Amino acid sequence: MMAWMSDAGLVGAGGWERDGMDGAGSGTGDGLGAGLGGGLGDGLGDGAGAHMSADAFRRHGHAMVDWIASYHERLRGDSAPPVLSGVRAGDVAGAMARSAPEHGVEMEHAIATLQALVEPGLTHWQHPSFFGYFPCNASFPAMLGELMSAGVNVQGMLWQTSPAATEVETRVLDWMCDAIGLPGCFRSDAEHAERGGGVIQGTASEAVVVALVAARDRARRAVVAGGAEACPIERLRAYASAQAHSSIVKGAMVAGLGREGVRLIETDDRWRMDAGALERAMREDAARGLVPCFVGATLGTTSTGAVDPLGAIGEAIGRFGSDAAGEMGGAPWLHVDAAYAGSALVCAEHRWMIEGVERADSFNFNPHKWLLTNFDCSLLWTRRRSDVLESLSILPEYLRNAATDEGAVIDYRDWQIPLGRRFRALKLWLVLHQYGLEGLREIVRSHCAWGERFAAAIAGDGAGRFELVDRAFSLVTLRVRARCEDDGDGRGDAAACADAGDALTKRVLDAVNASGLAYLTHTRVPVRGRDRTLIRVAIGGTHTREKHVEALLGLLRRTVDELRE
Ligand SMILES: *Cc1c(COP(=O)(O)O)cnc(C)c1O
Repeated sequence: MMAWMSDAGLVGAGGWERDGMDGAGSGTGDGLGAGLGGGLGDGLGDGAGAHMSADAFRRHGHAMVDWIASYHERLRGDSAPPVLSGVRAGDVAGAMARSAPEHGVEMEHAIATLQALVEPGLTHWQHPSFFGYFPCNASFPAMLGELMSAGVNVQGMLWQTSPAATEVETRVLDWMCDAIGLPGCFRSDAEHAERGGGVIQGTASEAVVVALVAARDRARRAVVAGGAEACPIERLRAYASAQAHSSIVKGAMVAGLGREGVRLIETDDRWRMDAGALERAMREDAARGLVPCFVGATLGTTSTGAVDPLGAIGEAIGRFGSDAAGEMGGAPWLHVDAAYAGSALVCAEHRWMIEGVERADSFNFNPHKWLLTNFDCSLLWTRRRSDVLESLSILPEYLRNAATDEGAVIDYRDWQIPLGRRFRALKLWLVLHQYGLEGLREIVRSHCAWGERFAAAIAGDGAGRFELVDRAFSLVTLRVRARCEDDGDGRGDAAACADAGDALTKRVLDAVNASGLAYLTHTRVPVRGRDRTLIRVAIGGTHTREKHVEALLGLLRRTVDELRE
């Protein structure tokens, strides 16, 4: 036995497990070594190629959890680090060795080295004054779910490769379907011929690729079924508003439609897709022999939180579809991207935005943005799973098994791009059990209420420093006004004044970020017919409280006063 082990080169100087600081032996008696019997458990436990013992893992694991808890306490405390990392390009890599360590080192030292290396290079997304992009709000229960997932480290590509990973996910997605007010047709147990169901994707970007390939193939099948000989991919067109997320264009690039396969539809003065313009565009394209196959509607755009009129879009698709039957391919797929704002749907008062969602073919939102579930966790539902399976099913011989063959189970590898998948439902399960839906509603409502009060203060600023551009959910968009915009008496050129306001807005943003006291990001969208620079204030951090939003208001006011001539 020992000889075989040595021959195979599996055993180093003394055994399978190394115990770090403890050195010789404690804890080497259990775990892997003991399971394999023989002299393994007697190893000295400190040689090259040795594993960490279960006891050492307990010790380092507790210490790591302590470090994480303290990190969060520090972010919340009076001596919090700057929100935005101050390192320059190459600083972090420059502090690292140029090649991997040849010899293992003592783990406590390794962990401390790693923490010291990484911390200065972190932009603290969990800082209570992180208001950039959209939140990516973590929570301790979700972290425990991540730890548990790492701990069991199952790969749930098939039902059989871990039935619990599939069934917990399916059920949790059914819970979430109800929790955000989606109709029952999206549930996995829906009572209609072609069942729906939900799946956890890594990101909204992957979700839209899944929707796009299903849409692409469904349209091509329909065109062929309608009598055409073939439907070359160049004929296909996808539609989204000019304010839609870049992931739709990227998805089209991945799905083979290319950038030129996407037509961006104009928006109204509140940045919402113009459903009439969508219908005209689809009809125009169809008249040229093209095949509209996909429409992406956004609930809560990235720039301003705009909500596309889902009902009107669905009706436009319906009308177009009934006129475009046969060789024209029928109605395009309707995908709903609610990456950020979807979390607000746990509250009934926000459900106006999903009126008409029963027409949608797929619906997606990211609990990893605003629902306290650690990255990554993006939920995708489809009303007809067969459309997705048609495009993404594979069954090589080595994955065949009785459960799959009987068709009685879900194999999630056919609902996503990769084969392998982590057990991500655990963290969402724990989040739901920590807060309950009631708790999640309360948190979302607080964020929206703080956004509303912040927006009111921006709009009502006595010194005329700001223009409130919009407030949607917990996202506030604003401009800083140049002095010459103050008077409104036409002094100077209005457009030149607004340009000066744009430049000032950018300088204020940079100064706030350089202060380290808060982090904000910007965008450019048309305001009164011209692209303008806006500051986005996205509220939704786990540790954010109203006092942090108030502090941001003070910081913005002071910064404007310093910078505005
Ligand atoms: C953030 C965002 C996305 C992309 O999210 P990922 O999960 O990072 O791919 C897509 N759509 C909208 C509207 C977003 O705000």
